[in-house]
Amino acid sequence: MKLLADVYEQVVKRNPGEPEFHQAVKEVLESLEPVAEKHPEYVKAGIFSRLVEPERQIIFRVPWVDDNGTVHVNRGFRVQFNSAIGPYKGGLRFHPSVNLGIIKFLGFEQCFKNSLTTLPMGGGKGGSDFDPKGKSDMEIMRFCQSFMAELVRHIGPDTDVPAGDIGVGAREIGYMYGMYKKLRNEFTGVLTGKGITYGGSLARTQATGYGLCYFTDEALKAKNLSFEGKTVIISGSGNVAIYAAEKASQLGAKVVALNDSNGYIYDENGINLDTVKLIKEVQRGRISDYAKHHTHAKYFEASRGIWAIPCDIALPCATQNELNGEDAETLIKNGCVAVGEGANMPCTPEAIELFLKNKIIFAPAKAANAGGVATSGLEMSQNSLRLSWTFEEVDQKLKGIMKSIYTNASEAAAEYGDPDNLVLGANIAGFKKIAAAMYAQGVV
Ligand code: NDP
Repeated sequence: MKLLADVYEQVVKRNPGEPEFHQAVKEVLESLEPVAEKHPEYVKAGIFSRLVEPERQIIFRVPWVDDNGTVHVNRGFRVQFNSAIGPYKGGLRFHPSVNLGIIKFLGFEQCFKNSLTTLPMGGGKGGSDFDPKGKSDMEIMRFCQSFMAELVRHIGPDTDVPAGDIGVGAREIGYMYGMYKKLRNEFTGVLTGKGITYGGSLARTQATGYGLCYFTDEALKAKNLSFEGKTVIISGSGNVAIYAAEKASQLGAKVVALNDSNGYIYDENGINLDTVKLIKEVQRGRISDYAKHHTHAKYFEASRGIWAIPCDIALPCATQNELNGEDAETLIKNGCVAVGEGANMPCTPEAIELFLKNKIIFAPAKAANAGGVATSGLEMSQNSLRLSWTFEEVDQKLKGIMKSIYTNASEAAAEYGDPDNLVLGANIAGFKKIAAAMYAQGVV
């Protein structure tokens, strides 16, 4: 880093103890160095230093009462990162590991991802260190209501439109939407990922996983490859993982493994997705339960072990930094030809470097998993138009968006002299529109 080195230094100094945020910023600034050289007017206008500082960061208390009458206090966050190209947009994560640095890394990434979708959405992210695991339905509802009682002041259909993420699915969105509507007395598209009966979009549930496969398929096609007949491993067993597995199978691949934070299952015949949906979506159980339904499948109590299973394509869909340099070496040694990031920042910088060096097709998260937020954007459009599109219509639009994200990212990579480097391409393509908008709007 040359021109942008002091921007990064300032980020590290100003945001101590936030390694994930530093990691995300470093990768983007490294990619943007040639853009800074080409556009001195952006440097002069402080675009880069403004880009790494969130417009607003909200931290709040979330008190709630459990089923035994005990009071608990969690911490809530909403980081409104950048609104240059549209209202803030990004998910809410409920997981004990959530802290300000995690939310900032996610919010920062979200700005570029949303720009890549070509839809008018700024970037934001939020959540809480609340752990939904093992909580009753009523406890989840009370928590969501308390969370929304504060968040309501900061969001709105033209201001900030949150969605789901880890630990926040249709149930949680429903409880939060109910509370928002009660407090505001307004029926608006303020959240996405809503149920179909009250303004949700068909295909939103499937969108991130499906979009990941559409994007990876484009990258494979560019190298005369496809999903057909390939062996695929997918980490995670939540929303993104399940629908990535579904689409990969529809495209002719065999998905043989899934995991959660406790361990992984290996089914050499191909994972039975009806069983996984039953366990995860209906029973809210653990992936280990799969082996009880299919006794030939094997369960291993070590989630990271999943990367040692030989495969052609790996789709990390659980969480940040879940695949490190050592895992990348193992995948490459076992003949893996493509890695598509369904989760946000699942591969460490060492892993990414190895993939790029070894000419593995690498689909970076902010491009490859943008299908979720793109379909959230389509949900916002449907809410504004007060109509709903069919599953096929939404799926077709999603496919078109993923294809254009791939084209834009690969063209930007080629323009800056490294045609196979989609990390570079996605960062630059995402940046272009935000930078032009910020530049046009003056120093604000
Ligand atoms: P879910 O809560 O539905 O599922 C998360 C899955 O990841 C679970 O299987 C969970 O296992 C596993 N997981 C979470 N934390 C860890 C950890 N520390 N170690 C190992 N496994 C872990 O979340 P989503 O599927 O929605 O999200 C997955 C990823 O995709 C996240 O990075 C998210 O930011 C990203 N993403 C999601 C989008 C969406 O539309 N939902 C859109 C774009 C990105 P366990 O039950 O054991 O915790």
